[in-house]
Amino acid sequence: MKFTTSIVHNQLKHDQKLKSKVTPIYQTSAFSFGSLEELEGFYEGNAPYLYSRVGNPNTDELGTMVAKMEGAPSGIATSSGLSAILAGILSVVQAGDHIIAAEDLYGGTYHLIKEELKMFGISTSFVNFGERAEVEQAITSKTKLLYSETISNPFLRVEDVKGMVEIAKQYKLFTLIDNTFATPFLRQPYVEGIDLVAHSATKYLGGHSDITAGVLVGSENLVSKARERVVNLGANLSPFEAWLTVRGTKTLALRMAKQTENAHSLVEQLKKHNAIEKVYYPTELSNKGNGAIVTIELSQKCNIEKFFTSLQWVKIIPSLAGVETTVSHPVTTSHRALSKEAQEKIGINRHVVRISLGIEDAGDINQVFEKAIKESLEI
Ligand SMILES: *Cc1c(COP(=O)(O)O)cnc(C)c1O
Repeated sequence: MKFTTSIVHNQLKHDQKLKSKVTPIYQTSAFSFGSLEELEGFYEGNAPYLYSRVGNPNTDELGTMVAKMEGAPSGIATSSGLSAILAGILSVVQAGDHIIAAEDLYGGTYHLIKEELKMFGISTSFVNFGERAEVEQAITSKTKLLYSETISNPFLRVEDVKGMVEIAKQYKLFTLIDNTFATPFLRQPYVEGIDLVAHSATKYLGGHSDITAGVLVGSENLVSKARERVVNLGANLSPFEAWLTVRGTKTLALRMAKQTENAHSLVEQLKKHNAIEKVYYPTELSNKGNGAIVTIELSQKCNIEKFFTSLQWVKIIPSLAGVETTVSHPVTTSHRALSKEAQEKIGINRHVVRISLGIEDAGDINQVFEKAIKESLEI
């Protein structure tokens, strides 16, 4: 079965009694037992559910479905992308251990690793994963984990997944990759040899900007360790949000194909534009396309405020991956916390705009950007 077919026939058959086509929402905090013997059965593995923080059919369904999409044996859904990442890290790392992470991580993850994990005695070196030697030089006897993202934000550097797997094998390290931007439609890092793959399902997996959720997939062994963290840290996802995310995943292939196509079309138009200083868009991500995020730097001739207010129905949204085309301004949102020098070092300034392509008509999208650029030059 091709990916496009399997993701719509992926849902678990929970409701054997009424045979509902779609899994019902088990909006319940706990499950009931008729006798002490039955209750004992839960601990012996005879009853699947006890309490929704520990497990729920809808959240389990999401974890299992995304695991299948990624080609991994096991998966768990969590309350957010960040909690999926945290559970993944804490399944292989503990106090005293050391992580090597890519320096261009998503801001929230950077903060989680740098500040929060530091409080628990976990140290991290942030290095340029584009330079293999830098990664190898950072390895110490305490290093346990290599952490990166398939595509970085906002400049869309594509990770050398093969290189990461090779280093990890050589030095006996675990690997964890955030596959949020690429999705399993474009890349399947687990299949490429990565141990754990995390998602902010808030983005493309959900796809409709109406939930906050995360998923972590990997081997049975590592995901069961992550599950303990999720249960004990209280990082479970609610049944309804899991259900909405499951619904979203069924159209992932359709959405990603269209959004990626729209990105290609906009990139072609913007590359020719003399008011655009730079267009950042990967070329080597996947044979199905290079993703649906495009980052541009407008020329200094453009008035950036005017550009943003001229975008008609394209809204400024500090997130990405919905079915609507949206824009964000890294310097005032995702990369606001960085010092001016740090921003400059990675290439972020007021004229940098990140575009998340939606599923609209490509001609309409291109026209909106064309007009906004024109109006931003008229001031
Ligand atoms: C949004 C995002 C996260 C964090 O996910 P939440 O669902 O907001 O917790 C992590 N990684 C990437 C690449 C993201 O875009």
